[in-house]
Parts: sequence; structure tokens; C-alpha cells
Amino acid sequence: MPKIKQLSAHEAQKIAAGEVVERPANIVKELIENSLDAGATAITIMVEDGGKKLLRIIDNGCGMDVQDAHMCFVKHATSKVECIEDVTHVQTHGFRGEALASVAAVGRVTLLTKEATALEGIKLEVENSIIISESIAPHTTGTDISVKDLFFNIPARQKFLKSRDTEWRHVLQLVTAFCLDYPDIHFKLFSESKQILNCPPVHSLHERCEQIFDTTASRQLLAITATKDNQRITIEGIISHHQILRYDRNDLYFFVNKRWVKNHKLGTALIKGYKNLLPASRYPVAAIAITIDPALVDINIHPRKEEIKFLHPRIIESLIEQAVSEGLAQKTSSDIAPAIAEAPVSYSSSYSVFKPFNFDMFAQQSAQSYNSYAPIANVMPTHANTSSPIGDTAPLSFFEPETVPLQKSQPLDVQQSMHTVQECADYRLIGQFNNTYLLIEQKDGLYLVDQHAAHERILYELFAKRFHDVATINLLFPDLISLSEDDVTLITPHLALFQQHGIMVEQFNENQLIVESTPIHLKNISCNELIREMIAVIKEYEHIHEEEFFKAVTEKLRAQMACKAAVKAGDTLSQEQMTQLLKDLYQTENRFACPHGRPTGFLLSTYEIEKKFKRKL
Ligand code: ADP
Ligand code: MG
Repeated sequence: MPKIKQLSAHEAQKIAAGEVVERPANIVKELIENSLDAGATAITIMVEDGGKKLLRIIDNGCGMDVQDAHMCFVKHATSKVECIEDVTHVQTHGFRGEALASVAAVGRVTLLTKEATALEGIKLEVENSIIISESIAPHTTGTDISVKDLFFNIPARQKFLKSRDTEWRHVLQLVTAFCLDYPDIHFKLFSESKQILNCPPVHSLHERCEQIFDTTASRQLLAITATKDNQRITIEGIISHHQILRYDRNDLYFFVNKRWVKNHKLGTALIKGYKNLLPASRYPVAAIAITIDPALVDINIHPRKEEIKFLHPRIIESLIEQAVSEGLAQKTSSDIAPAIAEAPVSYSSSYSVFKPFNFDMFAQQSAQSYNSYAPIANVMPTHANTSSPIGDTAPLSFFEPETVPLQKSQPLDVQQSMHTVQECADYRLIGQFNNTYLLIEQKDGLYLVDQHAAHERILYELFAKRFHDVATINLLFPDLISLSEDDVTLITPHLALFQQHGIMVEQFNENQLIVESTPIHLKNISCNELIREMIAVIKEYEHIHEEEFFKAVTEKLRAQMACKAAVKAGDTLSQEQMTQLLKDLYQTENRFACPHGRPTGFLLSTYEIEKKFKRKL
């Protein structure tokens, strides 16, 4: 008995359709692309039940005549190419003639279309790839396609559709991507008859971002650009400042030659550009358009062309990283500050925006003491040639502080702090709350500073800018760190980096390192954890270009050193130590965020407090 039978054309088509259509968002993509190919300037998308019940796309493009309306549902029927040679220089989104044939195989389709020269439109209804009704219908120029009851005829596929919310999120993200990719097109999106997006044409990506992301975010957006290899690669985009954060990567949009692509590595490169400004597991908002010689990309690795492969991915990634870090660097703390101060405090899915504290008065008192508020138990004199109480002094070099650090026993200098208050009417250090936050009264409210985050920022910048001046001490008992042989082999070539930062570490044997001296700030802190963290960092960045690797690893090392050396939540600080902390914080370049991106402080405005007490409505 022969076992082989040919599938009926319709069954074959239903199976083939699976490649193009997996979920409602895939259909939306194909239909919007068709509208763009048809020269539409306005496209409306309507969705019910996440697209499972209804998807409808209405455009004002060129429309179709009666013959084309019939042909468009036939497999491999396209107006865009005639032969394989055409494919190499095709400018349109589609050219395979598969989308409408697939859609007609998996949903109940109604097509209404009219060309500009036609007097009336034509209406076709299609089910199971067969035209079941045809009529003349009034219509304006353009095309209106509805797809109802997706997979009504393929229960096995229907069951794989996700919940309404999940499918809707995919549609929303897709339409958002089109909006960002085509600022000159008027897009409208409705869900369950409710208008979700309305984006009239604008002239720039920046304006489009303002239409899409909520106002708080759009006021915090900045433009970035970069080019490489004589314009064969250009990058243009909009990114958010590091205060605007999301909990996932869904608001990172990348376009390659006007095509929205999903490429995890591009996102990672963008995030790396933020250096240490983003907290762990928080993501910015970004829309990045990459224009590249088509010969340098392969778009055909995915049947729906959603993914992309670059011939030289590292070049693109480092260009993005560089564009982001340069864009952010140009915005100094000082010009970020007024924008933050004006921004409304609440923001839907963002980390809250914090307002800057008026530190101006501190600028006048410039005496620096980087150790005066080190954890009190660890404090020791840092003058050159001062013997360490726990061992030999063999400093590499010293940063000479102008003030002698405080000892815990030293009484609070209340007089001095009172004097400070009188000197500056709009500021008063109230004290420490919960041994963690400094409370500061100022003209417009109560400012809270996180002592750990603030100190981390100060030390990070000290290690970054003045690490040659950081005092070191010899350990009385050198720290032996046991690691796997592999890890010792991995880290040994990088020990010079630690040595440059005052951590005298060497290989002791095949599975141990020995630390003999550390910066004074890290005294009493085991380097074990730090070294293990850095091994993980080296592994993460191992594959990247040497110069960037060095930069990235150096930054991580500084951030980790700062974190370990900083005062902790729970450490009691004296009045003077607090004053010093604020003074030093003021002198940092980016005083609003710790190296991990957490805010160093925020303002509880007098207005908010009065509202709580119902003094103000
Ligand atoms: P492709 O886009 O690959 O050509 P499709 O199945 O998506 O294949 O569409 C088939 C044809 O139907 C297109 O080539 C085009 O001529 C026509 N068509 C589809 N959608 C529209 C539309 N919105 N406006 C005008 N013509 C359309
Ligand atoms: Mg198409």
C-alpha cells in the first residue's frame, strides 16, 4: 500500500502560512508593510481581543483594481518583482507574494479597496483561501483589510495563541516600532475601539518619541549620532537619560535600513554605553536607526526578517556604545539638573525621577577629606609617612588630605554646624535618619541623601580621576585568595590593573593569589569578593575588543572598589562627617547617581508634605 499522498493545495497553504503567521502581530506587520509599499501616508490599525478576534488595517495608499484584488490572495502573486534578479535591488518591504495568501488561509478576511481613478471600490470576502463573496462597495482611495477569528480553521494553532494581554503587547510594540521608524506617516492604533496611539506626521524622530513616550520621558531624551568607515555605517537615535528607566528591554528599538530588528547584542551594547549609570536590571528608552551598506548585513536569517546578522557585529556594537556614552557625557550634571527639577515626579513605569539638592553653599568650602567619613571603625590617619597601626607603611603614593579624619570619639562640632546654618539661610543639615539617610532642610522642602550611594559616587570619581594619589597600606597579614586554576590563569594577565589601583596582588601559586597591600579605603575589607567579582566581569567582557575591554573592566573595578569602601547604610556618622560627605558629593561630576545608577538623593517638596497634611489641596 503506498503511503505517500500529496497534500491538498489548501492544507499545504495552511501549513505554509505558519511560517508567516504565528500570532496576530505578524499579520499586523505584513499588512502595515503592504500599506507602506502602497504609498500610504495614513495607516489606522484596529484590534479586538489582542488581534485574535479582529485585526483591521486601513490605509490611504494606491488601492487595487478588481483584477489585483482577486490576485493578491494567490500564493506567490506580487506586483513588486518579476524575476529573481529584481530581488537584489527591491526597495519594497514585501516581494514574495506570500503574506495575503497566508492570511487568507488562516482567518476570515474582508478586503475593501479602491484605486484613485476608479469610481467605486470592490469588496471581497475570503475564507479558507476561497473568495466567498464579491461586491461593489463605496470606498475612498486606499485599502481596508480585516482579519477575523484567527486560526478559526486550525484549532491546533489557535490553542498556541497567548492571552489577550500578551498578544496585545506584541501588537502595541510592533505598531510603536513602525511609528518610530516612520515619523512622516500618520499612525493610529485602536484596541477594543479605544484609541491608544495617535501620531500625526512629524519631522523628526525626537518629535515622534515625544508623541509615543510619556511626557516625563520625552523631556529627558537626547539625540545621539555616530558614523564609521566613510558613512558606510551611520547611527542616529534618541536615548533617555539614565534617570528614565524601564524594568525590561521592551522600549529599546533598533532599525537597520528602516527595518525593525530584534538583536539582543545591540541592546547590550547600548546599555554598556551607559557605563555605571544604570542600576542592575533597569533599562533605558531608546530608538536607534542604523544605516548600513546592505552588503554588510544578512536579513534573510529569519523567515519574517525580524532578526538580522551583521558581517562585523562588533563594529556596530562598539559604535552604538560609543555614541551613547558620548551623548551622555556631553550632558553634564549641571545641565541635566534643571531639567530634572522641572520634571513631574511621578512616571508610569520608570524609576522615580529625583530632584537635585542645592549644594551651592558647599562649593565655597572646598577642603577635601576623602577619608573623613570612611566607616568609623576603619578610620586612620592618611598623612604620608604615617605608620599604619597594623603593619608596615609602604604607600605607592599619597593623596594628601587637607583635614585630619575624624575619630569616632571626637565630639560633634555643633558650633560649626550651627554656624554653617546661619551662613546659608536656605540650607540646614537636620541630621541622620535611620543611620542611612542625611536629612537636609532647604527652601523648597526636605532633601534626603543616601549616605552609601553618595559616598560610592565620591569614591568612584576619586578612584577614576586620582587613583595615582590614593594612599595604600601594607597588610599585616597578607590576604591569600584561593581560586580554581582556570580562574588564576584568567586573571593573572590583568593583575597590573589591580596594582594600578593600589591593590598589590600577585600570583602565589597555581590556585592562589596573594594581596599584600590595598588602598586605605579598602583596609579591613577582604579583597576576596572583589577579585571574584572581577573574574566574572572579565569573563563577561572577554570577547570584546582589547581597548574597550580595558575600559569596561577598569570602570567595573572602580565601581566595585567604591561600593566596598563606602560607608554603609547603618553606619553612624558625625555631624562633621555628614557635612564633609555633602561637600564632597557636591564636587563630583555626576552627583545625582551612584556608580550603579541609584539616585544619591531626592527632594520631598514642601508642597507634597503640605498635601499630606491636607494644608494644601
Ligand atoms: P508582497 O507584499 O510580497 O507582494 P502580499 O501577499 O503581501 O505580497 O501582497 C500581494 C500584492 O497585493 C502586493 O504585491 C500588492 O500589489 C497588493 N497589495 C497588498 N496589500 C495592498 C495594499 N494595502 N494596497 C495596495 N496593494 C496591496
Ligand atoms: Mg506584503
